[in-house]
Amino acid sequence: MAAVISTDICIIGAGPVGLFAVFEAGLLKLRCHVVDALPQPGGQLSEIYPKKPIYDIPGYPEILAGDLVDNLMKQIAPFHPTFTLGERVERFAKLDDGSFQLYTTDGTEIQCRAVAIAGGLGSFEPRKPAVDSLERFEGGRGVHYMVRDPEHFRDKKIVIAGGGDSALDWTNFLANVASEVTLVHRGTTFRGAADSAEKVQKLHEAGKIKLVLSSNVTHLHGDDELLQQVTITGNNGQAETVPVDAFVPLFGLTPKLGPIGDWNLDLTDDAVLVNTEDYSTSLPGVYAIGDINTYPGKLKLILCGFHEAALMCQGAFKYIYPDKKYTLKYTTVNGAPSM
Ligand code: FAD
Repeated sequence: MAAVISTDICIIGAGPVGLFAVFEAGLLKLRCHVVDALPQPGGQLSEIYPKKPIYDIPGYPEILAGDLVDNLMKQIAPFHPTFTLGERVERFAKLDDGSFQLYTTDGTEIQCRAVAIAGGLGSFEPRKPAVDSLERFEGGRGVHYMVRDPEHFRDKKIVIAGGGDSALDWTNFLANVASEVTLVHRGTTFRGAADSAEKVQKLHEAGKIKLVLSSNVTHLHGDDELLQQVTITGNNGQAETVPVDAFVPLFGLTPKLGPIGDWNLDLTDDAVLVNTEDYSTSLPGVYAIGDINTYPGKLKLILCGFHEAALMCQGAFKYIYPDKKYTLKYTTVNGAPSM
């Protein structure tokens, strides 16, 4: 039988917010065990956009998402967190003494004194466009719903479809990597950041990418199940078939809350309702931070999740030690942080 893991706070989700919560908990001498359904830490940053630059982390004018995850792992290392990766937390039970027992898909059992749900979007799947033969070219045969490593597209001809941040950001980035980038968008204006849309327009005017508006990719063609061409059809019915090595439809993710929805917590629109004083949920001892929670004015941004993690840990400390008084100290007071 697998050993039972015992800890102070079990953090569900190793995204940036779950990882930073380990740091904040460590400052309060609370031990953490982190569980994630994905095989690596980093959440959306590792899984969806590891090589995308992020510009709104305080103190970093620009940092690649993957580097931010590496830095967070370094920052929490002194607190010796433990991890269960590649397993999803399926259910949990609150015991009479106020502590919790959690169980994963693979039967790992975690006993803890407080639970922090940092489950982000939950288990997420890409939104797929209605295109003929899409499934035939999935699984490394030419259709990619995420850009895990831009190097995969070096010197290749790619067609990106979409009008949001992801499509714009990757068009801008891959313009310097791929041999040919075509961005196909069904409308004439973009949903993504105006600045990114402007960069795309400038690249198009400079002849570095091709921008095809009011159009959709409608058909995929290939031999031996390897993608070779796509047909782009304009809203006016005119169609053009062009050679490609890869088709990258970036229409966002469909959030699937997964088992978190069955844990009897107050939810709205598939997000966990929290009290912004300490990010506690409707079940005492259970907290929700990062993209998984909601409250008036919620912004799904990494820096907001970091703030939530700090307040959550103060709340968890009071829940675990109701009789202990905690005085806030700065990290520099006792030298470098350690457990
Ligand atoms: P996530 O990163 O989603 O991590 C949650 C983790 O929980 C996942 O790894 C998931 O597998 C795990 N999980 C869920 N349910 C379970 C379960 N039951 N058991 C075990 N594990 C579970 N934000 C910015 O601030 N700046 C940006 O520039 C920026 N750019 C972005 C670009 C793109 C393309 C996208 C998609 C998002 C961007 N964001 C950006 C948003 C940012 O990525 C999110 O706000 C951030 O990832 C939220 O972190 P999180 O830790 O709450 O959740």
